[in-house]
Parts: sequence; C-alpha cells; structure tokens
Amino acid sequence: MVSRVIPVEDFDLVIFGGTGDLARRKILPGLFRRFLAGQMPKGARIIGAARSELDDAGYRKMVDEAIGEFGGVDAKRADLDAFLAQLHYITVDARGTDGWSELHDLIRFDLVNAFYFSVAPSLFGDLAERLHDYKIADDDSRIVVEKPFGRDLETAQALNNTLAQHFDETQIYRIDHYLGKETVQNLMAVRFGNLLFEPLWNNHYIDHIQITVAETVGVEGRGAYYDQAGAMRDMVQNHLMQLLCLIAMEAPSVFDADAVRDEKLKVIRALQEPAPHHIVRGQYDASKTAPGYREEAGNPQSHTESFIALRCEIANWRWAGVPFYLRTGKKLKARSSEITVVYKDIGHSIFPGDEKRHRNILRIQLQPNEGMELQVTIKEPGPGGMRLIDVPLDMTFAEALGPDAEDSTDAYERLIMDVIRGNQTLFMRGDEVEAAWRWTDPIIEGWQRRGDVPKLYDQGTTGPEDALMLLHREGRRWQGIKE
Ligand code: NAP
Repeated sequence: MVSRVIPVEDFDLVIFGGTGDLARRKILPGLFRRFLAGQMPKGARIIGAARSELDDAGYRKMVDEAIGEFGGVDAKRADLDAFLAQLHYITVDARGTDGWSELHDLIRFDLVNAFYFSVAPSLFGDLAERLHDYKIADDDSRIVVEKPFGRDLETAQALNNTLAQHFDETQIYRIDHYLGKETVQNLMAVRFGNLLFEPLWNNHYIDHIQITVAETVGVEGRGAYYDQAGAMRDMVQNHLMQLLCLIAMEAPSVFDADAVRDEKLKVIRALQEPAPHHIVRGQYDASKTAPGYREEAGNPQSHTESFIALRCEIANWRWAGVPFYLRTGKKLKARSSEITVVYKDIGHSIFPGDEKRHRNILRIQLQPNEGMELQVTIKEPGPGGMRLIDVPLDMTFAEALGPDAEDSTDAYERLIMDVIRGNQTLFMRGDEVEAAWRWTDPIIEGWQRRGDVPKLYDQGTTGPEDALMLLHREGRRWQGIKE
C-alpha cells in the first residue's frame, strides 16, 4: 500500500520542560519514532528548554538514554545519532531572564515554530509572556499545552484568559492524547464514511452506550496531585468526555477543526447532570500485600475517588432516553479502555426455539490493543436446524489493509505532527474545555455539600458492587472489562 501521509516542512520545536518526565517518556521517544518513519525533515530541530545546566551534548545523552528506556524500538546507532544531531538544548528559566535572548537568537523565524509547554500549568503564563516580550513567538507560532487544563471552570477560564492575552485560539493546541488514537479516528471514519451505521445511530436503535477506562495501576508517585483531583477531574472531565463527544456528535459538515469542535461542544452542552443515585464513587482498599488509596495518596482522611461510574443522558432529539454509562478507575482487574455501543434487541425472533436475546454490539477498543469489532448474529454452521450464534466481525481489517492496519503510531507523536502541520481537529478548543468543567463542577460541589464518602473496593476487581448495580437494576451489564 502506498502511504499518503502528508509530509511536514522543516520546523523548530521548543520543548519547555524538555528534561521532564513527559518529555523523556512520551514526547522525545515519539519524535524519534516519527524520525524512523521518515517524517522528520532533515532541517527540523528540536530544542529542549529547562533550568538544568546542560549543553547540546549533555541533552543528547539524556535523550539517548530516554529513547533506550522508553522508545520501544530496537534502533540502529546510526539512526539514533542522526536524530540526536537534530536536538539542541537551551537553559531557560520560565520565571526569570536567563536564556530568553539566546532562545530568540536560536529560533529560525522563516519556518514553522511550535512551543510545547511540558511544564506545570502555573508556568504557562510566564512562558507565554516571555515568548512575546522577547519576540520569540509571532502570529504564526503554535503552542501546545497539556492537561490538567484547570481544576474547575474558574481556573480553566483563568488559564484560557492568560493564554489568550498572547495567543489567538488558532495558535493553541490543547492535547488530549485519547484523541490521537488510531481507533478514535477510525470511529469517525466508520460513522461518517458509511451509510450503514449513521441511520441506526440514535435512540430508535441504540439501547445504551458504555465508556470504560480501567487501569490496573494505582496513584503511584502522583498521589499529591491525584488526591486534589480524583477520577472525575483526572479522567472524566477530559478523556471520557472527549470520547463521549465523538460518539454522540452530529455529523460535521466538513472534517475540519472548527466544524468538528462545534459539534462536540453541542454534545457537552446537552449533557444532563446525573442524579446523585446515578453516580458511584469508589476508593481502593488496602489488600494483604498492597497499600490502599489513602496510604498511597498520603492522606488517611481522603474522600477523593479513585473510581467513578455514572449514568448520564444527552438531551437532544438523537439521544433522548439513551443512557450513557461512564466508568473509570484505578487498581481494577484489567487495563482496558473500550467504548461499547449496545443496540436494541431485534424484538421478534422468527426462529423456533431460539430463546436468546440477539443484539448487535459495536466494541471500540482503545487499550490495551486498539481495534473495532461488531457483534453480529449468524447461523451456527453445520446441520441440525437453525441455531443462531453471536460472533464478532473484526472491523480493523488487518488482512485487507496489510501492515498499515497495525499502525503503532503513538497518539502523542501523531498529535505533535498535527501541530507542525497546523491541524487543530484533534485538539480541544478553549470553549469545549470550559463547557466540560461547567458540567463537572456542580457534580463535585454536590459531593462536597452532601459530605459524600467513596465506597471502598477491593483491588483487582471491577470496582464497588454499586457500580454493577447501576446497570443491573436497569437489566443491563457492563461490557468493557474482560472477565
Ligand atoms: P516534571 O517531570 O516535573 O517536569 C517538569 C519540567 O519543567 C522539567 O523539565 C523541569 O526542568 C521544567 N521546569 C520546572 N520549572 C521550570 C522553570 N521555572 N523554568 C523552566 N523549566 C522549568 O513534569 P512532567 O511529568 O514532565 O509534566 C509536565 C506537564 O505535563 C505537567 O503539566 C503535567 O501535568 C503534564 N502531564 C504529564 C504527564 C506525564 O505522564 N508525566 C501526563 C499528562 C500530563 P528543570 O527542573 O531542569 O527546570
């Protein structure tokens, strides 16, 4: 198959926080994989920037080690050296004057330049201000910002306002790496590139939709941050909300950044606040061998949730009456992210003796493996009458598409290349982020008002029993985590 990847022009990409965890684990190894794929032009430069006193050689050594640890590729020395030669480093203090004039002198203003803010959000304002004061960024520059994008509506608005003082919305790329996943984009292709799905994609034919993002890890080293956030802020407000938007949105008139984001925004605005009895919060308990959430988070009194399951509805013509069940948690029995679209029963069976309820189920798996399958009902092969069975139809079409079907491009690297290309479609717009907080804030305030305490759950399970009941009492069951 001929690859039709749009090539990128030469660029300068400055990574503020270029020595940090995210840069070493995700951004730089991702860029190296793009280099290996032939997508990094020879004239492109990556400039690490942080306070640490390093020179180019020291930075290249650090990145070399990071790629060895996190790169996930068995690279040839010559390739590594060629990539490292495109790296530079500059010592910069986001809050001071050090390094900024040198950075100005390094940047090539006739090329695309992008600035990745891979630092704490409290430094975003300082960086934005200095990029302008030192005339490093201009109207064509792009900035990339990471979650958490605020911790409530007020802080998100403050962040947006700070960035807006120096950059136009068309220059700001807010990353949610879930949107960079191949399968998430394939979901849009399936929905809007076929006639087969869209006519049935509504409350006449769909019984309910589930979104599960289950992790086996606990809070680990992020305890201090996580205890101030919880699953609602850390996962639901951003990742699950974004997936919900792509599943539920109307067809944009064209696949471009603002048309797609306008449709996503309408979904968030139509999302109803769940009733308190439609929300289950949980916290993982200590086991015989492993500490519980409170010990890991270092807060013995913590009421922060490490698990949440909720049922909500979207108040519009397409979705009225269709429950959307969202669930995410830590220390669960499997690592699994899945969107499950459960169609209604066929209603009447013409096959005598066939007692089973047959329904189509579309499973969109994001982790641990990406893929899409549609459960269909067929005749069980062989003689002996009409016996029906439900079988999965693989919609990743690995055989038909060859090696490209197993594109291992990590979401981060895909998104960074979109920044260079100037394509904002898979990035969150400021008003989307604010609308998501507008939905999230009253729910969290409700817990605080009522003194809500999360239910304890055993590690290695699917979360609190009540989360199962959320569906059981409506005659449904969770699908996302393989038993
Ligand atoms: P980190 O490991 O603490 O790294 C922070 C980086 O910022 C370091 O390179 C640090 O280098 C630099 N820095 C700190 N103060 C600075 C200053 N005054 N001027 C210039 N540079 C400064 O943090 P991280 O985990 O990489 O996270 C970075 C951002 O990404 C955060 O907003 C985080 O919430 C977000 N994020 C991270 C992950 C992840 O997996 N790590 C995932 C999602 C989002 P020096 O000390 O040398 O200055």
